[in-house]
Amino acid sequence: MTEYRSVTADVVADLAAILGERNVSCDPDKLIAYSLDEVQGPPWKESCRADVVVFPEKTEDVATLARYANENKIPLTARGAGTGLSGGAVPARRGIVVSFEKMNRIIELDRDNLTVTVEPGVVTAEINKAAADAGLLYAGDPCSGDASFIGGNVAENAGGNKVVKYGPTGSHVLALEAVLADGRVTWFGGKRRKDVTGYDFVHLLVGSEGTLALITKIILKLLPLPGEVVDLLVPFPDVASAVRFVPRIVTEGKILPASVEFMDHRSISLTERYLNRKLPYSDAGAHLIIQLEGNDRENMADEYERIGDLCLAHGALEVFVADNRNSRDRLWKARKSITESVWAFHPGKNVNEDVVVPTSAVPELMEQVQAITARHGSDYVAFGHIGDGNMHLTIAPDRDRPDREAVLKAIQADIYDVVKGLGGTLTGEHGVGLKRRDQVGLFLDEAQIDLIRRVKLAFDPNNILNPDKIVPWK
Ligand SMILES: Cc1cc2nc3c(=O)[nH]c(=O)nc-3n(C[C@H](O)[C@H](O)[C@H](O)COP(=O)(O)OP(=O)(O)OC[C@H]3O[C@@H](n4cnc5c(N)ncnc54)[C@H](O)[C@@H]3O)c2cc1C
Repeated sequence: MTEYRSVTADVVADLAAILGERNVSCDPDKLIAYSLDEVQGPPWKESCRADVVVFPEKTEDVATLARYANENKIPLTARGAGTGLSGGAVPARRGIVVSFEKMNRIIELDRDNLTVTVEPGVVTAEINKAAADAGLLYAGDPCSGDASFIGGNVAENAGGNKVVKYGPTGSHVLALEAVLADGRVTWFGGKRRKDVTGYDFVHLLVGSEGTLALITKIILKLLPLPGEVVDLLVPFPDVASAVRFVPRIVTEGKILPASVEFMDHRSISLTERYLNRKLPYSDAGAHLIIQLEGNDRENMADEYERIGDLCLAHGALEVFVADNRNSRDRLWKARKSITESVWAFHPGKNVNEDVVVPTSAVPELMEQVQAITARHGSDYVAFGHIGDGNMHLTIAPDRDRPDREAVLKAIQADIYDVVKGLGGTLTGEHGVGLKRRDQVGLFLDEAQIDLIRRVKLAFDPNNILNPDKIVPWK
């Protein structure tokens, strides 16, 4: 276990000298707020607290800060908007939390190269908007996009609603400016579309959860903005018919949709209560949202009619077409509110999973989840990015059960067994962080865990960058 230097008044004074008084805070409320993310009911609330929060304004600030922290062996935990769902931004070994909220400029939108260069503290939706204003598409679209920062998206390799067609955040990242643990600043990648000069460090840093380097600039790929977008809301009588239908969109419909999202009956009812509005066919067993894109209005109409007919031929109860801004926004507002709706009615500590399996295994996964929860007499909610095989499961046994803790553990273990058996893994997009660190060994073997530790120490020999994350550290 690495020994760290404590953050004393002298350290705080040094940080103020490096970054300016206005960029250093020991305000007790801020120390708490900047030590948490959105994990519900985490066990580390009291023990993992920032000693000081800093707000660098430019790359040089971050470089000087890293050099200082490295020389003094003080932990540095990067923080985006704090919307993470794995405790990634929680300062597990105390020390300095580095908030990137003041590094929030869109630096350049380059139409010739179809790129946008941004600082890590830009809110994801602002990039979507800046690209759309220029007639272009930034295809990253996590449900938290109105709040999350792009630096957090890159560090978690965030997924979201358009992964089926465009891939997760990492698919859009061409280059990263990074501050290494010793304060050196380097660019990995560039505006070029290909690059095999050396290792692919860009995509090693993507998803590295702030453990390898501090990301200070990002070059993202842009695409042409589709002229037409239509969302289909499709209720099915039960979960099985909905999940079994999904592969047919491609195999029989011959269309690669931008999104295929799944909401079970419980997630729909909770969202209706939370938003205080009805969704069509809300008594259905499950709903899919299928998003189609194109450029020609008539072609699009043909395509969505074909997919709609296919849905009905395979048991859909109805097909609702959202083809204007207003109806599409209402639909996505419901989808994007599910997480908060589940928390509102199932507060506190539950099992919240982000498992991912090969897409063909989703029907089996959902059957097994149903059987496991029934066996343990527990309620559950399921929704997620079904087109990617990525399911968000909330297991919420009755609060009054005396065996609640044991039941949660048993259900989680049973689900992990099933996921592993189906060729899936622990987390598809929310990351390991602190929350899943001790379960990583169920999915990665000893050779891989050893490599993770050695790569980490090659980048960060003093183990100051977001220590104690991703794999257990002795
Ligand atoms: C309602 C809701 C819906 C969500 N929906 C989705 C979804 O659809 N898809 C999805 O993938 N996730 C989703 N999430 C999870 C979360 O929004 C994402 O993980 C997001 O990428 C986190 O971004 P953030 O800016 O909040 O990062 P934070 O939570 O602040 O940090 C996340 C990680 O990034 C690291 N980090 C942050 N900035 C930097 C930097 N500049 N350099 C190095 N490391 C850095 C941190 O150390 C931490 O490990 C959702 C969360 C909520 C609350």
